[in-house]
Amino acid sequence: MTRRLNRSHKLKRSHKLKRSHKLKRSQKLIRRIKRNTTHQNHPSGFLKQNAGWITISIHGTPFERGFAHGYLLHKELKRVRPILKYLVSTYYKTTLQEYLETCKSSIHHHLKNPEWAFVEQELRGICAGYKHKTKSTTINYDILVGWNSYLSLAEKYEHKDPDNMSRCSAFIAAGSATHDGKLLMAHNTHCNFSLGFISNVAMYVYPENSESAFMMQTAPGLVNSSTDWFITKCGIIGCETTITKINYVPDFTVGVPYFLRIRKAMEQGRSLDDYVAMMMDRNAGDYACSWLFGDTRSNEIMRFEQGLNIHDIKRTTDGVFYGMNSAFSPELRALETTDTGFENPESRTGARNLRLEHLLEKKGLTIADAKRIISDHYDVAKSCENMGPHTICKHNENQEDADFSPSGATDGKVVDTKMATTMSFEGIMGSSCGRVFRKRGCPDATKKHGNWKSVIDDMPKHPWIRLIDHRSNRQHLHSEN
Ligand SMILES: [Zn+2]
Repeated sequence: MTRRLNRSHKLKRSHKLKRSHKLKRSQKLIRRIKRNTTHQNHPSGFLKQNAGWITISIHGTPFERGFAHGYLLHKELKRVRPILKYLVSTYYKTTLQEYLETCKSSIHHHLKNPEWAFVEQELRGICAGYKHKTKSTTINYDILVGWNSYLSLAEKYEHKDPDNMSRCSAFIAAGSATHDGKLLMAHNTHCNFSLGFISNVAMYVYPENSESAFMMQTAPGLVNSSTDWFITKCGIIGCETTITKINYVPDFTVGVPYFLRIRKAMEQGRSLDDYVAMMMDRNAGDYACSWLFGDTRSNEIMRFEQGLNIHDIKRTTDGVFYGMNSAFSPELRALETTDTGFENPESRTGARNLRLEHLLEKKGLTIADAKRIISDHYDVAKSCENMGPHTICKHNENQEDADFSPSGATDGKVVDTKMATTMSFEGIMGSSCGRVFRKRGCPDATKKHGNWKSVIDDMPKHPWIRLIDHRSNRQHLHSEN
């Protein structure tokens, strides 16, 4: 009897100790988050840093918004030129100068068209804000156009590295597929860490027309998202996964690059039909994607797959669409790509296709489910947990079967209809599973990816946090009272 009592006493003590350790750990985490949280102000903008994310809100005319962007993100903008130089020299096998000349001859003429003056002015504002704060002109208009055009020019440079163009896992669900019958969307970015780790900006954009407000996840210096995760004030949510192995070269003579088309849609689109129309209008075929869009007002979701001459649209108010870098449209896949991996568990797209299909059979998906799915490490080819290039939360880093590429999942995001009403979402920076990345000790074989250690920082473990534009939401509440 006494022995049993002793055992129970010991058990209680160990539970108490574990609880106290847990409490101490979470208090430590909260202290660290508070320590890392900073604020910065500008008349046309506001910046806050937390858990690896930077939340920024920019207001006013296109030039004013750009100025605030350049002023507030001046430290982060300093990294753009060396990263762009690294990316084009390593993956496009060209010099920064030649690359910028190519952008001048193929992209710049679009920005001279008054239709895109709102983007051109925003870019010039970024340069002016940066110069005002730093007295430096290293971030100029040409660099920013080149930076914004990087993904559009992959095929032009015959860029064949699948790790760098096979970007993202995602899904969007509605009706009986979600716990409340409303919308739920999740996405993670698969990307070279140089670009992925600085795509940590949750940017709230408030144009003069208040109905055009939207938020996007982005990197400093970009006027579109590029990771393609956004929520608009009028109720549209969106993300995408790229379609890999495109077999044509986009033509920008008349064709408008994707970063302009999607930026216009985020700002001016009011319905799913608007998004299709704006993405189709003079489509250059660059950065082919399986777009996932949702309208939180009508509870309708859409998968819009777009190549050059072929596109495919599926819409529903009850079901799930997902993406994993292989087009669902057999026609698009057969005629505009060389992709044969769609259902092959040995391929990076096929493995994730099979896994996502299985995980998304569940009805009544919650936010917790979405986080679990987007952080999943089950490899269907190996039939086991295996953090690698075949998993939804992709890990190429230092893996022989991923060519030792410094790339993979660099974040995780989830949003539902309720969060979307305040343009907020939950996100984690670094990877969806929160893994730590350290440069030290990476194998020598990673050198085939150039001098990546000069442009990529270590990534500590971060928690999932709620991203919201606190300042504007507070102002909004005050103006309503
Ligand atoms: Zn992971």
